[in-house]
Amino acid sequence: MSTISRIDVYKLSIPCTEPMVIAYGESAGGENLLVRIETSDGLHGMGEGSPDYYVTGELQSATFEVGRELARRMIGTDAAAIEARVAQMNGTVRFHPSTKSAFETALWDLCGKRAGLPLYELWGGENRALETDHTVDMATPEVMAGKAADLKQRGFHSIKIKVGRTLREDLESVKAIREAVGEGVSLRIDANQGWDVPTAIATLAEMAPYAIEFCEQPVPVWDERGMKTVRERSSVPIMADESVADHHDAFRLAAAGACDYLNIKLAKSGGLSIGLKIDAIAEAAGMRCMVGCMEETRLGLTASAHLAAARPNIAFLDLDGAFFLVEDPVTGGITYDGGEITLPEGSGLGADIPADYLEDLESVSIT
Ligand code: MG
Repeated sequence: MSTISRIDVYKLSIPCTEPMVIAYGESAGGENLLVRIETSDGLHGMGEGSPDYYVTGELQSATFEVGRELARRMIGTDAAAIEARVAQMNGTVRFHPSTKSAFETALWDLCGKRAGLPLYELWGGENRALETDHTVDMATPEVMAGKAADLKQRGFHSIKIKVGRTLREDLESVKAIREAVGEGVSLRIDANQGWDVPTAIATLAEMAPYAIEFCEQPVPVWDERGMKTVRERSSVPIMADESVADHHDAFRLAAAGACDYLNIKLAKSGGLSIGLKIDAIAEAAGMRCMVGCMEETRLGLTASAHLAAARPNIAFLDLDGAFFLVEDPVTGGITYDGGEITLPEGSGLGADIPADYLEDLESVSIT
């Protein structure tokens, strides 16, 4: 038993260097939640939640209020009983996955610290080579091609292109990027629900010359049947993103044969343990996974990287969120060399945020 003695919940707001434009809107920055959990044995764990209005249905102010209530109920309980804590959170409030994820990450951080193991080792993984892509958001084809060429220079071997506009606009941007980076860079696209079925089928067919590795979420979140139709009529593998939040979605999509790959995000799943379950379902169905992110610091990204290192079936990484933010207050955590990710060696998450940075954030403390 490792009794939870104090929980601090913080609002963490960090603007993007420039607004990020995708099919369903524009993001000005990460409006996130930090959770710090202390236990009676003197340890603390940290977790970041990254709500997204459109995908997780959460506002930062709502995550903060829900976080306060979850903290109030969790005080005095056993931090080691993570399944029980997840059940407690789910029994307290429906939805709010990124809020729950912040709490669960902090509990796993504590678990790893007690065990003296990095999280990927705790889950039986190895410190394997991890490589992330880097996203190019929507702009003119010239601007997008310029960003892609710069990313290639910086050592990224995979580029994820935001699409989901008209066939002509999407085709022109992908063509310009392929011409700018040449053959050696893998290009993936993400339509963020921006197409209907006929547009998706036509656009993917037109993109055949540009060797697209896979296409994320071609159609709206509700249209699983449409996603299956696109998959059947296109040579480009289809990845579900917004359509897969938790393990129940993963099971339904796998059973329907609606997609080839699943994109796990902790903000959607509600935490690491459901992320592990999604990957298990995918593996059972012969599907591979990606682990993705929102606009978040290297604290949240480090949790996702541990998950990827622990599960070889997670074949793709899209852990680029911190590159878009104006500052990164994290100590320790993953480091990047181009797209190559190195995990920290410390126990637990191996990432933290300094006390003097936390002091300046709006917070609530429950003891
Ligand atoms: Mg996506």
